[in-house]
Amino acid sequence: MKTIDRSRVAQLMDRERATFRQRHAQSSRLAEAARRSLLFGVPMNWMTRWPGDHPVFVDRADGARFYDVDGNEFIDFCLGDTGGMAGHAPKAAVDAIARQAARGITLMLPTADATWVGDEMARRFGVPYWQFTLSATDAHRCVIRWAREITGRPKIVVHNWCYHGSVDETVAILEGGRAVARRGNIGKPVALDETTRVVEINDLPGLEAALAAGDVAACLFEPALTNIGIVLPEPGYHESVRALCTRYGALLVIDETHTISAGPGGCTMAWGLDPDFVTIGKTLGAGIASGAYGMTGRVRAMVLQHTDAKNADVGGIGGTLAGNALSLAAMRATLGEVMTDAAFEQMIALGERFEEGVRGVIESHALPWHVVRLGCRVEYLFRPDRARNGAEAAAGQDEKLDPYIHLYLLNRGILMTPFHNMALMSPATTAEDVDRHTEIFGQMADELIST
Ligand code: PMP
Repeated sequence: MKTIDRSRVAQLMDRERATFRQRHAQSSRLAEAARRSLLFGVPMNWMTRWPGDHPVFVDRADGARFYDVDGNEFIDFCLGDTGGMAGHAPKAAVDAIARQAARGITLMLPTADATWVGDEMARRFGVPYWQFTLSATDAHRCVIRWAREITGRPKIVVHNWCYHGSVDETVAILEGGRAVARRGNIGKPVALDETTRVVEINDLPGLEAALAAGDVAACLFEPALTNIGIVLPEPGYHESVRALCTRYGALLVIDETHTISAGPGGCTMAWGLDPDFVTIGKTLGAGIASGAYGMTGRVRAMVLQHTDAKNADVGGIGGTLAGNALSLAAMRATLGEVMTDAAFEQMIALGERFEEGVRGVIESHALPWHVVRLGCRVEYLFRPDRARNGAEAAAGQDEKLDPYIHLYLLNRGILMTPFHNMALMSPATTAEDVDRHTEIFGQMADELIST
């Protein structure tokens, strides 16, 4: 296998930075102006993490493409890190959003759309009772509170290198067998091991040890890790997780926010999982703030027992705008007309094509990398074989190659998800889009290994 010449990566990166500057004069002016009033010069802190001197400023987006303020066109495989997975501005959702916006956005009262969406979520994910939030983060906050309340237990278990949003209990990492604050964890309220235990995905003895004391309210797991590359579960892992949660009285929360890439009902439907709660956000409303959590009949009965109806508005599970009419109209149109069962078939076939293309380039260039796929989500990682857990996947991140590849692709009209090498297919993505990525990825590999 080839080794990558690091000094060559540094040289090539300098060239790509220069190209970026040339292509983004207007974005650069807007970035300069933004420093006047925006902390870090961006509307949200993580936008500083794009490669290049500043993020590209967007003019408009349509389907699987967007256009920046300098007139450059891009194929978008980032898709708002799943927020735009329905494709940008899908007509059915845009029409429904415009109709509802003109008829009232938020009223503190239900609309008929809520029931339609609840029924559809139950069909897709198999758990019958639903509530709506404005984000996946919020869905997790709600579910963690319910789990603590109904079990009377304090602790939450998460996977090492998970990400479930800006939820205090989950911004943790496994170090020396203990949960500690993840690097960059801002303003943690308490030491992380007070609230959290961290276990590796695929480590069943580790999970059993974490549950054995009988003080765990909930395990909050993605079916596969998706925020440190994709780490898939080993065969039988989820059946054993379910059995351990049941044996030790912990509730099992499955976060489908990213793993909905596996199909219309995420991994829960595709793999026949049996969670107590399902959580999801991001893509549900084609980008209009939307999140949801669902639960089984058994959990609902426990929730009802612990509900203080008189104080439901101030009991810590809230959100004035949650369940608003606009969000529900967006969800109804997106689920009913855009992210349909048929659309997923097409998206997953494109995911396979993307995976094959990348694998072909890796093999023909003898690169020490691999590619992994979960439905219509594909990721390449800088280690020869698949990571079996979060720590292995973290060791496969490369802080020089990663930004280099992102910038190389960006300079040639392709946007990948930042922070790792993830590509997502939308209903609007085409085979030509996928092949274009393969072509550019191949050119990048040619240059990287030529001496
Ligand atoms: N769950 C997963 C798996 C995520 O990746 C994220 C965000 N990347 C979230 C939940 C939180 O989503 P949000 O920031 O939209 O609340």
